[in-house]
Amino acid sequence: MIKHVKRMVVKVGTSSLTYDTGRLNLRRIRTLAEVLSDLMNSGIEVALVSSGAIGVGSAKLGLKSRPKDTPGRQAAATVGQCELMFVYDKMFGEYGHTVGQLLVTRSDIENSERRENLVNCFEKLFEYNAIPVINENDSVAVEEIVYGDNDNLSAQVARLMGADVLLILSDIDGFFSANPAEDESAVLIPVVERIDETLLHMAGPSVSHLGTGGMATKLGAAQLATQAGIDTIIMNGSNPEDIYRLLDGRQVGTHFKKQSKGDEEHA
Ligand code: GLU
Repeated sequence: MIKHVKRMVVKVGTSSLTYDTGRLNLRRIRTLAEVLSDLMNSGIEVALVSSGAIGVGSAKLGLKSRPKDTPGRQAAATVGQCELMFVYDKMFGEYGHTVGQLLVTRSDIENSERRENLVNCFEKLFEYNAIPVINENDSVAVEEIVYGDNDNLSAQVARLMGADVLLILSDIDGFFSANPAEDESAVLIPVVERIDETLLHMAGPSVSHLGTGGMATKLGAAQLATQAGIDTIIMNGSNPEDIYRLLDGRQVGTHFKKQSKGDEEHA
């Protein structure tokens, strides 16, 4: 059960933010902004890790799919990131909340001085009751486009912020015993006490046509976060109101339980 949440990181993937056309799913984004604003009103600090820059930018530029070349993806991200922040600013603004954009690269997290600056900025935004909206800086950090994914980034951010909970909103209901698109006998696993080799093997590399992540990157993120003492939930982002059900103690998605210090030593 997820209880007494003080600080929550919510990661939302491209497939949850857009229609199959690649254009923004405004209805869903509005619901997400309303739910997160409401949680903030109740006293929970929320940070949003949002994908979508490259996917949304590609659609806005009239491209049929994500560009295959790096400059193409860089250019699409510049367009999509603007669109995303415009919509977040507008929608969170309608519910009385203020957004702040942070575009980070892997080196911002790996370099200790830059990491400290980043943490200071997060803390200040929380102090000001603003909602940090974070994405990779896809337009300049070329290697991040090729190797990076926001599942991993969201776990890193949750660690840096000392969050209690990481929610990964996806186009799949949670973690299944097999790929449900290929195997009818696949069942949702509601609770995972520990991520081990067998589980990592089950994840497989499923990739959507607009985002970069699949179940393997989500499981890697869950592993990183749970080892840092952060409860992690992979759940379907199609109805953001499910976040209320989760916080009411109902079973939603797959809950990867946080590991305590002792567990980590034995891992
Ligand atoms: N940063 C990428 C974007 O905003 C998405 C990365 C991912 O799909 O995990 O388009």
